[in-house]
Amino acid sequence: GAGSAVLEVAGLDAGYGPIQVLHGVDLSVSAGELVCLLGPNGAGKTTTLLACSGMVRVASGDIRLDGRSLLRLSPHAIARRKLAHVPEDRSLFPSLTVDEHLRLCARPGGMDVLELFPELRKRRTKRAGVLSGGEQQMLALGRALATGPRVLLVDEMSMGLAPVVVERLFSALQEIAVSAGLAVLMVEQHVHLALRYAQRGYVLAGGRVRTHGTAAELRERWPEIESSYLGR
Ligand code: ATP
Repeated sequence: GAGSAVLEVAGLDAGYGPIQVLHGVDLSVSAGELVCLLGPNGAGKTTTLLACSGMVRVASGDIRLDGRSLLRLSPHAIARRKLAHVPEDRSLFPSLTVDEHLRLCARPGGMDVLELFPELRKRRTKRAGVLSGGEQQMLALGRALATGPRVLLVDEMSMGLAPVVVERLFSALQEIAVSAGLAVLMVEQHVHLALRYAQRGYVLAGGRVRTHGTAAELRERWPEIESSYLGR
């Protein structure tokens, strides 16, 4: 259940070479929680996820998983600490089948992907390249879940998908987070949809956390948040 912070980001400054993108970002995600990271284009949402998985240089601050710092660990070592990352482009191999993807990443203690996403059962022998966008996203999520993560980072899961498909994915993720005690941090452009499924959210703009709260609080305050921080 929720309660104990699994992923903690504290005072994070990070960026690309001389360009500082994140300024003192603080956030946490507990076991069993689905938390969304919201904000305009260029806010630093993707950069935050990349810093957590060791792919962006951290200048100062800390990122902890179960209380232990991930700083200075390689992306591979971070993955072994049970942090899985589903990037925006999904990173599937178009010519490998569904079964081949799942065999490549399955680990002892990993989740049964075909049970989580029965939609993929009849597509097992199909190459990823011929799947629908929704099936590809299920496979990308499934591949991450098959590794048995404690923390799952998901970037723009809804990209290019029909709203009904996005709802199916969000509700699946929410269920998985709760039932497996997984800490899920997702970046999302579909604010209103995200706030229906997430328990909490953070609003990032200009590389800083501007506000955060429960999904209900953020939904209620959204008009004010938009005009204060998102320039709309
Ligand atoms: P989007 O929805 O556009 O992906 P985002 O909130 O995820 O927005 P980021 O992708 O984290 O934003 O980008 C934050 C800032 O970092 C932007 O100003 C972007 O131009 C810059 N940036 C991103 N990637 C790089 C890179 N490889 N090198 C230099 N600057 C980068």
